[in-house]
Amino acid sequence: MIPLASGQYPGAQRLRIGDAVVTALSDGYIDLGPQTVPGATADDLALLVASPYALEEGYRSSISAFLVESGGRRILIDAGGAQSGIGTLGRMQGVLAAIGVGPDTIDALVMTHLHPDHAGGAFDASGAAVFGHAEMILRVEEHAFWHDDAPVNDGNRAYFDLARKAAGAYARGGRLTLFDRDREVMPGLHAEFLPGHTPGHTGYRVESGGEALLIWGDIVHIPPVQMKRPGIGIAFDVEGAQAEATRRAVLERAASDRLKIAGMHLPFPAFGSVARDGEGYRFLPAPYDHEPGHP
Ligand SMILES: [Zn+2]
Repeated sequence: MIPLASGQYPGAQRLRIGDAVVTALSDGYIDLGPQTVPGATADDLALLVASPYALEEGYRSSISAFLVESGGRRILIDAGGAQSGIGTLGRMQGVLAAIGVGPDTIDALVMTHLHPDHAGGAFDASGAAVFGHAEMILRVEEHAFWHDDAPVNDGNRAYFDLARKAAGAYARGGRLTLFDRDREVMPGLHAEFLPGHTPGHTGYRVESGGEALLIWGDIVHIPPVQMKRPGIGIAFDVEGAQAEATRRAVLERAASDRLKIAGMHLPFPAFGSVARDGEGYRFLPAPYDHEPGHP
């Protein structure tokens, strides 16, 4: 008997933006139950079961990182969660290997923030940098938040430990660069401060040949609920009110300006746009890019 097929082919999908190519890399997923959206009513949560693919346990939130090839450089935006201890994460490094991108060929590891599903793949089990030649680029507010002892308690200590390990792996080699304002952090890659989810949470805009893609980090974790009802935060938001203000502003700008967007927790392959939908918004997945290597 032929065994039943299992698993997936490595999760990589490309989108061309001007002369740059952006590859979404699937790192896995986290199932987010109703306890992660404490502000949601039963009516809000009913948005989740509207789909015949809905899970009873909650929303299966994709986790992705993005490889940006621009100006002759390979830039990784976030690193997935290999060392997070979450067993459904950590697939991104295998995906990179499958598409022929060695970890030592990455020039820069640019971070949206230092939560475990984004920074847990930056270092290996021994604590060494996974991307041996990469410079880690990070907003100064994000670095400062995770290196302050004041907010640390038994409930959040593991998050602080992981963030410090990730930044430390690059700082030790003199390869940690902090920036303090919105600017071009690598050729063709512009930082946009989007605080709230964490104090230094930052999105990055890929600009090339008159086209642009905003990689917005963790603006939403449960798109069918939080895009339709942008007032609903996620339990992992460090500054809830600021996160909501940022979420509302970015969603409105994305819809008004018809931005191309990508997000770490949008359904893989995580490229799309935002449309207005009643009082809120909805996610429109991008069409498949059949020729990402062609001008
Ligand atoms: Zn996240």
